[in-house]
Amino acid sequence: MDKIKMTTPIVEMDGDEMTRILWQMIKDNLLLPYIDLKTEYYDLGLAYRDETNDQVTIDSANATKKYKVAVKCATITPNADRVKEYSLKEMWKSPNGTIRAILDGTVFRAPIVVKGIDPCVKNWKKPITIARHAYGDVYKGSEMKIPGAGKVELVYTGEDGTETRELVHTFKGAGITQGMHNLNDSIESFAKSCFKYALDIKQDLWFSTKDTISKKYDHTFKDIFQEIFEAEYEDKFKEAGITYFYTLIDDAVARVMKSEGGYIWACKNYDGDVMSDMISSAFGSLAMMTSVLVSPDGDFEYEAAHGTVQRHYYNHLKGQETSTNSVATIFAWTGALRKRGELDGNNELAAFADKLEKATIDTIEAGEMTKDLALITTIPNPTVLNSEDFIKAIAKRL
Ligand code: NAD
Repeated sequence: MDKIKMTTPIVEMDGDEMTRILWQMIKDNLLLPYIDLKTEYYDLGLAYRDETNDQVTIDSANATKKYKVAVKCATITPNADRVKEYSLKEMWKSPNGTIRAILDGTVFRAPIVVKGIDPCVKNWKKPITIARHAYGDVYKGSEMKIPGAGKVELVYTGEDGTETRELVHTFKGAGITQGMHNLNDSIESFAKSCFKYALDIKQDLWFSTKDTISKKYDHTFKDIFQEIFEAEYEDKFKEAGITYFYTLIDDAVARVMKSEGGYIWACKNYDGDVMSDMISSAFGSLAMMTSVLVSPDGDFEYEAAHGTVQRHYYNHLKGQETSTNSVATIFAWTGALRKRGELDGNNELAAFADKLEKATIDTIEAGEMTKDLALITTIPNPTVLNSEDFIKAIAKRL
């Protein structure tokens, strides 16, 4: 059989622990037998990040700008324990944070929907994709405990020294206060990534804030989205048969619960933090969530939403059998291969991505799955497979 040819490489970012083991199994069993796989390889495993003083992470992000498509394995974000475990020179920053900052991108997270792993909201039939703005607001806030009576003001000092003041509150007793900010540039990038991705996957885009209460702060988000939509995307949305829909966050929540899914919901930083966990747990499992970072220039980096599954890795090192779910990592690869296929006009490659996704879903729907899914499925008497046998069961169908 002739292997599928590729013209342009995908940026391949390898990672850590159990997901690094799955990564190789996926390549060996599901990709290399069928594709003349062209990748530019970056080892984001913690040891090599340490060896290169994290330069490899920066290089991989720059390569993503060059080739426009990347696929990333889960990586360790070091904490104090990891610094000891890996004898690190420094507590390196989160690779995802570094890559996101370089690409100025927005993360879109979506559940992989399979029959037999049913969402607990029974009317949800299609995935709900959450886009979370990942800059500012309460995450970069300054806070103060107010010890007693006194006045709190916001003060803006322009470069020419002129001051603008806004009273926060005149305290009569003890309390708390908080100042936070966002940037028009960052909101614009967020908006563009959302409009681009909605066109990319041809789904409606919802955006919600609390602009009735926050008449300047949240209202600016609403205005920037609306301006960019009208100036750059309205016609393209019409052509694609999709809509952009703004509503208040409380109205959005009510509509989401009653909807059947199948759209993108763009959220401010905090809302996105909370709502993405709600969506992933309601759809069943973190191991069934994909994640794609989309830059405002249209660069795409695909990954699984979960971490490195540390506990399974330690079992694996002890020689014990693991049953780790590789579905989200497989879908990271199919996302990248499909996008590469689309950008290069390589239909065979894009079609392969569809087939691999279908083989994966068919395997689960036929009752063959990893332990985490067997515990929550409604399929009677599922067969629990180990990490490798699950991937081999998919290969058989493929
Ligand atoms: P984790 O996602 O690895 O695991 C959380 C829980 O979900 C565990 O109980 C695990 O057993 C289960 N789980 C997750 N994915 C699974 C899968 N594919 N199959 C079966 N069960 C699965 O998160 P964690 O334990 O908090 O973190 C482990 C490491 O991963 C940390 O070092 C963290 O820095 C890193 N991490 C990386 C990313 C990323 O690269 N995007 C995201 C989150 C965490």
